[in-house]
Amino acid sequence: MLLAHRIRIDANAAQRDYFARAAGTARRVWNWALAEWHRQVALGQKPNALALKKQFNAIKYLDPAWLDADGNPWLRTIHRDAHAQPFANLARAWSRYFEQRRAGKKAYLPRFKRKGRCTDSFYLANDKFRLEGNTAVLPKVGRVALCEALRWPGKILGASVSREAGHWFLSVQVEVPEQAAKRYRSGDGITGVDLGISTAATLASGEKIASPRPLKATLRRLRIRSRRLSRKLESAKAAADIAGRVPKGTRLPVSKNRTKGAQALARVRRDFTHKLTTRLCRENQAVAIEDLNVKGMLANARLSRAIADVGFYEIRRQLCYKAQRYGTSIVLADRWYPSSRLCSACGIRNGELVLGERTWTCASCDAHHDRDVNAAMNLQRLATGALAARPALPEASQAVTPGTAAGTVPAAGGKVTPVRHEHGQQDCSGQEEDGEQFCARLR
Ligand SMILES: [Zn+2]
Repeated sequence: MLLAHRIRIDANAAQRDYFARAAGTARRVWNWALAEWHRQVALGQKPNALALKKQFNAIKYLDPAWLDADGNPWLRTIHRDAHAQPFANLARAWSRYFEQRRAGKKAYLPRFKRKGRCTDSFYLANDKFRLEGNTAVLPKVGRVALCEALRWPGKILGASVSREAGHWFLSVQVEVPEQAAKRYRSGDGITGVDLGISTAATLASGEKIASPRPLKATLRRLRIRSRRLSRKLESAKAAADIAGRVPKGTRLPVSKNRTKGAQALARVRRDFTHKLTTRLCRENQAVAIEDLNVKGMLANARLSRAIADVGFYEIRRQLCYKAQRYGTSIVLADRWYPSSRLCSACGIRNGELVLGERTWTCASCDAHHDRDVNAAMNLQRLATGALAARPALPEASQAVTPGTAAGTVPAAGGKVTPVRHEHGQQDCSGQEEDGEQFCARLR
């Protein structure tokens, strides 16, 4: 099983400086390669990444654009993996694009990377670095202190160094033997999880898991600050006589404090989602969540911030990969499945339910529902159904493993079952995204 361990680097100033320059190099090379790709296509040629790399290698120590003020090739100060990998990445990005177009799916063109807008990262091949306990020896920078030692045994396939929330991380990809990658579940529950905005997650048991308090506090501060910032932006725009969209290349004031708040938020959120998703996978043999149309919801201005905040996307991604290790099945309910509208007691659909209603009473069976708990219970039912539909494993393969009850089937674990329902399909606009594919892609 391919696992990545992301370890924080305790870098000194010189190392941070190198990392930033190496990531900047990777970004610049990517942009050069992408621009060259477009240029060749415009000339009617058929570019390929390997040829582009050769072309780049021929100019990288000569072309004035890649020399410093003294005429020296500054690329020599950056390890070559940082400027070779973008070509492989570009090849992958294009092949993914064409693959998705062929499959008739929505495809996204590789885009130029912009400083401050993209993730700062660069690649290291497995023979270019080594790990010695809490230390890594990286090319050009030498020894760097790590906050913990590598967690997995197995073959190291490569690593990348990236920046998040003001810290640098070394993410090591390891091919971990199945046996070592497996984790034992502490329970065999079946649950549905309603991911929400006011409550981060509601379980079918009725338990509500609130967002961590610092997250709420940070969000409040962020909201106030972003309001202030947007007012500043408006006045700056008025002063510069810009109406409507800000033209490309205009520098707008960015508040340092706002960035700091966002970084603190990213840390708190990461910790919270990891704990939540680990717990769900550890305690359950099947977890059903709604396959939210994150993209569509992000387009809705009012909801967008809230959804981005709760980090649905990340929760689902983590659930999908952790499920593999815990042998938990993840059931993705079709995003048109009306989990909040169905009465979990009698199955009647409440067509009048609006977004603001937190509780409702079923007109047909008089059951009183908490909106979120009811949705979680409907999802739980889907999980039960998906589990029952799964073919039973032969007796012999039901190994009794410590920590799991006899009769559970880790062999079938990690399976992602998208469940589609006829309900509500009529309001479907036809722009389906394949849930299984989604999880596979992020795994
Ligand atoms: Zn009912």
